[in-house]
Order: sequence, then C-alpha cells, then structure tokens
Amino acid sequence: MDALPAGRHFFRGDDGYEVARQGTVWHQKVPDRYPEMIVQAVDAEDIVAGLRYAKANGHQVNIVSGGHSFAASHLRDGAVLLDLSRLDHATIDADNKTAVVGPGKGGSLLMADLEAQNLFFPGGHCKGVCLGGYLLQGGYGWNSRIYGPACESVIGLDVITADGEQIHCDAENHPDLYFAARGAGPGFFGVVTSFYLKLYPRPAACGTSVYAYPWDVADEVYTWARGISAEVDRRVEMQAIATRSLPEMGIDGPGIVFASPAFADSEAEAEKALAIFETCPVVDRAVLKVPYMPSDLPTWYTAVMTHYLDDHRYTADNMWTSASADELLPGIHKILDTMPPAPSHFLWLNWGPSPARQDMAYSIEDEVYLALYGSWTDAADDDRYGNWAGSNMAAMSGLATGIQLADENLGQRPAKFASDEAMARLDKARATYDPDGLFNSWMGRL
Ligand SMILES: Cc1cc2nc3c(=O)[nH]c(=O)nc-3n(C[C@H](O)[C@H](O)[C@H](O)COP(=O)(O)OP(=O)(O)OC[C@H]3O[C@@H](n4cnc5c(N)ncnc54)[C@H](O)[C@@H]3O)c2cc1C
Repeated sequence: MDALPAGRHFFRGDDGYEVARQGTVWHQKVPDRYPEMIVQAVDAEDIVAGLRYAKANGHQVNIVSGGHSFAASHLRDGAVLLDLSRLDHATIDADNKTAVVGPGKGGSLLMADLEAQNLFFPGGHCKGVCLGGYLLQGGYGWNSRIYGPACESVIGLDVITADGEQIHCDAENHPDLYFAARGAGPGFFGVVTSFYLKLYPRPAACGTSVYAYPWDVADEVYTWARGISAEVDRRVEMQAIATRSLPEMGIDGPGIVFASPAFADSEAEAEKALAIFETCPVVDRAVLKVPYMPSDLPTWYTAVMTHYLDDHRYTADNMWTSASADELLPGIHKILDTMPPAPSHFLWLNWGPSPARQDMAYSIEDEVYLALYGSWTDAADDDRYGNWAGSNMAAMSGLATGIQLADENLGQRPAKFASDEAMARLDKARATYDPDGLFNSWMGRL
C-alpha cells in the first residue's frame, strides 16, 4: 500500500478502524458488516490505489460518500471501502447555469451556495445527504415534480472504472455508463469523482401550507389525497407525514401533517397552488391549519430534520403505487397501528402522473410514493421495530409498481427498482465496465 499515506487507510483491527467504519453511517444502527480496509480518499490517486489493492488481493469494492443510505449498503464483509466524503468540491458557473460537484458535497450545502447566486437545483430535502448517493439513485428533491428526479439534471460525470481508468461520461461519451449512473444507485459499478449539473433560476417565491389531522380521520384524508393526486399543481410537493406525536407543532397525540412547499414566480401564485388543501372534506377537523405562509429552504431543512435524528437507529422501506385508496387503506391502518414511537413516520407523497423521462436507469415511478421510516434509540428494541418498515411494505407489495432506491431495504426485502429493460441494459453495462465483478452490487434485487 505504498501509494496510500498512513492515516488515510485503516485495515480491520487497526487503531482508528472502528471509528472510521462507524463514521460512515449517519445513524446509530451500524450493521455488523466489516470491510477489510477503509480508504479515506482525498483524490483520484487514493481511489486508484485502493482499487489496485482490492484487485491484487481478491477483495471487492464499495463506495461511500455521505453515508445516508438507511441500510448502510456500503458496509460489506471483506471489501475495500472507499470513503469519498472528503471529495466535496463545488464550482458554480452562474453564467452557464452549470456546476461541477464532488460526491461528498452535502446537498443542503450546495443549495445554500446556489441560493447565494440566485440559482436552484432539485437538491434533497435533508441535511447530511451527500450528492454521491443522492444523484446516483435518482434524487427526489425540492421542486422535483417540475424538474424531475435530480439525476435528470446530471449532464455528465467523471468516473474511475474498475481497471483504474479515469473517464468522463455523458450522452455522447460512454452512454451506457451515463445511463447506469442515473438510477443504478448502490448498484453502480464505478467510482464517481465529479458530477456535472444543470442548474435553474431560483424560484421567486417559496410558500407553504400546513394542515394537521388526528389519526381518526385517516380514511377521509388519505381517500381525498388519493382522489386529487392527478390535480395537484406540479409546483406543490404534496406530502403527508403520519407520526405518533408532533411536539414541535404543539400536537401531543398521533397526527397526519400535510406540510407542502410550493415554488412559484410570486407569493400569489404559490398561495393559489396551495388552495387545493382547503378541499379536504374534513378540513374542519384539522387541529392545525395554516393555509399559507411564506417560507424558505433553511426553515424547511430545520423542520424536516426533526424527523431524522442521528442519535437514533433507523430502518426504512418504500413503494410506488397507483392503487386506489380503498385498496391502500387496510395496509395504511396496519402501518399506523404498528408504528414505533416518533420520530418514526409514514410518508405519503403525491408524485405523478409524471411526464416521459429521459433514457436512464431510473425507470420506475408512479402516482403515489409511500415510505416508512422506523426509528428508536435502544438496541434492545431492534427485534421489535427493525422489521416494521419491511414487513408492512412486504404486506402491501401486491399493490406496488416497485420501489425507489432512496429508501431501499434490499438486503432485508429484495424488490423491483428499475424496468426489466433498464435492468437488462444495466447488467450488460456492468459486464462491459466491470467484467470481473470488482464492485459489490445491490444487497438484493428481483
Ligand atoms: C435523513 C435522510 C433524508 C433523505 N432525504 C432524501 C430526499 O429528500 N430525497 C431523496 O431522493 N433521497 C433522500 N434520502 C436518501 C438518500 O438520497 C440516499 O440514501 C443516498 O444514497 C444518500 O447519499 P449519500 O452519499 O449520503 O449516501 P451513501 O450511503 O454514501 O451512498 C449510497 C450508495 O451510493 C453509492 N455511492 C455513493 N457515492 C458514490 C460514488 N461517489 N461513486 C459510486 N457510488 C457511490 C454507494 O453504493 C453507496 O452505498 C434521504 C436519506 C436520509 C438518511
């Protein structure tokens, strides 16, 4: 390992190894999976050296950027783990509305940089999530119902391949690798060192509405939400979060909160787009009702992060669906009945119907996105809560079109996340770019 300076790599058993391993997982449920070596890369040379070492010694390779995979997909026994969190560069070209960013750049940090220059990108909704994993898996972000999953705004990538070659891929160069890098997520078979992004003008207004309902009107609110899903203005991210308590909103008991940002050219337009929330037939049962208030991204990030506490243990699972409310409600009741304490939550998102997408591995989505985030603090509760998300999504899988890799739980519950055609093309591209299977792939697939 001459090419890697001491202090940038840790073999299993070395001082610092366990701190380095645990440091790659954002929450407290760090799986008992142990890479043989962890390389804390600062540049391409470190990455190439790590790949060479893996190849020469018969190890497979994993990559971690922000470590926000709920499943910690990057931790695999016996592998070489390339930690790219230090590759956090960002160069913004405001005139051409493009940026070049490193995989270790936090999405919320990029949004702040862009905001300062009156620019915008469909970055993710949470602090801590890095662009590496976020962009590779699709990327559902701010105003994504307008701009599409963030990977549609990736116009090129710098990638180091299994044989250590540094290449640039885009629509013209290495198109199969470019196809794969936009949706393969934790199954991507190369090391991304830079993403080239298309940027957008910053919307003039970001408005918000907030409505909170008690669980006893769950049937009415989910039936209404399903019924209007095709009508919701695409500038509105209509989402409902069900959780057992919402102290930060002054709600003690279980609630379903519709807190939805709308991005528009003016406050008046944002307010108009959000008016649909007044059409809920049980709107008079709302225990909190704010039809409109001006908002901004820093406020949103703070609010969203109350659901994701890094001193907790997490598990997640999800599904896309176009099933009717009648079909979904039995499963939803089971989800609510079995939900662990807050901040565990059930997300309902009105997403489609969507426009035709670009030709890319991200190839499954549907009208409604359902995701479960189980959370607890005591390791003794792992057995009790650890399969809440997976078992409820398994029970509803007959109503699913597939899953989104953002909240994947493939090691526990293999599921379909790309079309058959896209999977065939992914497999072919993997055989071309990684013929010896150097890179570990998804933890499960159908
Ligand atoms: C609190 C929280 C909030 C979230 N909010 C959103 C959201 O709003 N929208 C959304 O779409 N998703 C969201 N996610 C999901 C998140 O986008 C994915 O988990 C994403 O993979 C995280 O990226 P990361 O770089 O932080 O994670 P990592 O765990 O580092 O990466 C995930 C996987 O991607 C691959 N990978 C990462 N970097 C590279 C690279 N440079 N080269 C090659 N492969 C790489 C690896 O296989 C890795 O295992 C959220 C997750 C959490 C925990």
